[in-house]
Amino acid sequence: MGWTSIKKSHLTLLHLYPDHMNLYGDRGNVIALVHRAGRRGIDVEVVAGELGKPIGWQHVDMVFMGGGEDSHQSRIAEDFLLRAPELTRRLDDGIPMLAICGAYQLLGHYYRTVDGQKLPGIGYLDVTTEPGRPRAIGDVVCETTLPIVPATLVGFENHGGRTFLGSGATPLATIYRGQGNNGQDHTEGAMKLHTIGTYLHGSLLPKNPHLTDLLLSWAVDPSGSLMDLAPMDMSLEMKAHELIVARGEKVR
Ligand code: GLN
Repeated sequence: MGWTSIKKSHLTLLHLYPDHMNLYGDRGNVIALVHRAGRRGIDVEVVAGELGKPIGWQHVDMVFMGGGEDSHQSRIAEDFLLRAPELTRRLDDGIPMLAICGAYQLLGHYYRTVDGQKLPGIGYLDVTTEPGRPRAIGDVVCETTLPIVPATLVGFENHGGRTFLGSGATPLATIYRGQGNNGQDHTEGAMKLHTIGTYLHGSLLPKNPHLTDLLLSWAVDPSGSLMDLAPMDMSLEMKAHELIVARGEKVR
């Protein structure tokens, strides 16, 4: 497939709560999306979704929200709930969303903080999160069922919450190294349509350019696929990816 198959040359990326929800280099995910789109001649306008600020939902082509400490999550939780009807309508249209850690938790039904505060989530993903100890910290290697090659995803996790999937949730990946959702069932993250919730910081997308491209292809055309995107070299990023995969001993 070539450049002529590109259906959009301008994308709007909504970055939700960039000042509150941004841990362990999460902003690098936005940089990776802008970079890999730009190299293909697709211009990405990054719009910040701040507390109380109106959002032009009809123009949004993809959404990103990073992780946050409990205190930051509790500051944005109410505002996020108010956004839920419009956000979920756009997600149901098939635009992609990447939600990392604290954002992933708030896409579920609730997140109970380590202090016992129950923060309601928007319930788009059928998951719930309870506090746990010790914190799950370290490198993660997992294998996803998403249509990407290789199927491995690598990242870094640092969370207290333990997330449990309901019957309506599809895991993003199976854990080979690390804790993932809860350290028990070997699942990592959850997904629905083109929405991905994951514990992987890292930043995730610079180390997983194949996932970056999949998200971009959905932003360009929610009913399309990776084949709609012009191919682009990812050998350097993949060297880093493969090194991390090789370093991680398989625990299963
Ligand atoms: N505060 C949440 C937890 O500890 C999320 C942390 C994060 O986003 N890294 O589980």
